[in-house]
Amino acid sequence: MVVGNISRLGVLMTSMLASRILASWSQFIKQKAYPTQGWLILQICFLVVIPYVFLAILPMDNKGLYVGILSFLNLIMMVSMMLQFPLAARLKRAKLFSRIDWNMQQHKRMGKWIGAFFFLHPALILLPKWFLSGADLSLSIIESITAPRLLTGIIAWVLLAAWVLFSIYKNKFPLSYAKWKLLHTAGFMAILILATWHITQVGSHGQFGPHINQAWWLACGLSLAFTVYGYTLKPRHLSKHAFTLVSREKANFNDWLITIRAQSDFTFQAGQFVWLSTQKDAYRLDYHPFSIASTPRSLPELSFVVRELGDYTRSLDQLQPGQAVFVDGPYGNMTLATNDTSNAIILIASGIGIAPIIGLLRTLAESNEPRPVRLIYSNRTFSQMLFCDELAHFEQNMEDFKTRFVCYLPSTSPIYYQGFIDKTCLQNALQDVPVETSSVYLCGSAVAVKNIRYALKDFPIAARNIYFEQLSF
Ligand SMILES: Cc1cc2nc3c(=O)[nH]c(=O)nc-3n(C[C@H](O)[C@H](O)[C@H](O)COP(=O)(O)OP(=O)(O)OC[C@H]3O[C@@H](n4cnc5c(N)ncnc54)[C@H](O)[C@@H]3O)c2cc1C
Repeated sequence: MVVGNISRLGVLMTSMLASRILASWSQFIKQKAYPTQGWLILQICFLVVIPYVFLAILPMDNKGLYVGILSFLNLIMMVSMMLQFPLAARLKRAKLFSRIDWNMQQHKRMGKWIGAFFFLHPALILLPKWFLSGADLSLSIIESITAPRLLTGIIAWVLLAAWVLFSIYKNKFPLSYAKWKLLHTAGFMAILILATWHITQVGSHGQFGPHINQAWWLACGLSLAFTVYGYTLKPRHLSKHAFTLVSREKANFNDWLITIRAQSDFTFQAGQFVWLSTQKDAYRLDYHPFSIASTPRSLPELSFVVRELGDYTRSLDQLQPGQAVFVDGPYGNMTLATNDTSNAIILIASGIGIAPIIGLLRTLAESNEPRPVRLIYSNRTFSQMLFCDELAHFEQNMEDFKTRFVCYLPSTSPIYYQGFIDKTCLQNALQDVPVETSSVYLCGSAVAVKNIRYALKDFPIAARNIYFEQLSF
């Protein structure tokens, strides 16, 4: 009776939430805005919990509180594992999965939790049996390992543990990012198939009839379809809409300026990024994310600044003007807010983080921005600073724009602050702007973004007014 009422209440609340989510999606589609983080989290929770709610209204055997909780956790973790595929699949048109930078953060975070939970899964099932029956634990383990119907589950478990470690310690393996990603994806696809096989063989949900197991296979197929789409249909589409390389030139000793031309309609907002491939065909997996440094006004041309880092970025001299460039995008939400009511704009670029920031600054200059704009731009040395002439031009011609260069190492240039972008540096650079009513746009490496966001906590700036992009996933 109580369980029935709780289930009905669950279904009612789920329906209300579903209608609210549909309303927010339709509003989002109308405004073409990015959903807020809160809504994304709620929608993901909804997707994860909804299968349980539907199963809970079926007449399930009551096997006690512990088994009930474990069954709930197993189910939501399994659905969460399925969600990882669309989360990481660069789905521009599926609104829920369109915030790829946010998705990648959640993918990394959720992946660790899912891995840890399923690592404990055998123990969570076996230990209570052992406690309750007093049976020999080692005997239970041997029986479980040797039971033929558990074989798929055991293989999935071993593979999962290995692949989670392979993902966490990806930088420790002597593999290119593209090869690592291929192995990562193929491994987790195999794990998902084996895990689905396992739950449809031994999971308790099959007791309601074959249609529940069919639903599991359908969900598994659907989530894998997102990945298969990314490796097959998407490259075909990118191939048909290939861009052309216009030029590539050295900007300084380790940075490149790359310009490409779109052959079809392509739109973006300043501050966004794309995945670029300069391989022979669009099916090769070597796509790299780069921020667009130009503004929509310069379309059909797009420009990028690229810092040499690894194998790909050190081989840019081999690119030939006129060659095809495959472009997947645009992505990213560090764009100038259209409903921005702030009184000043603070741009912070660390290293090659200047790429999207210069795009934003150029857009502000194009629209004769009347509000104070401050750029704080750091590099190891002054010789790595890009766009110095253009920045000087903006200082002279924009209403109220100032640049503060920051270098870690001493330099002969008189116009810089030595050190890091920390609290003192920010205080120094932002003396004459109303920080509490400013919008902040920040880009750099993951470490730089983390440290600068930490330093910004000492200023009265609302977190929702800080937009940031980190240059790694
Ligand atoms: C949203 C975003 C925007 C970026 N914008 C710029 C930019 O405007 N200019 C710039 O110079 N750099 C940018 N980067 C970083 C750039 O993508 C990497 O430096 C580049 O891909 C390194 O490739 P590599 O083969 O030379 O080096 P590697 O040694 O192979 O890679 C170094 C690191 O770069 C990352 N990386 C490499 N390949 C990929 C990939 N295909 N997808 C995701 N991450 C990858 C990995 O974390 C890897 O550990 C951006 C990164 C992100 C995530």
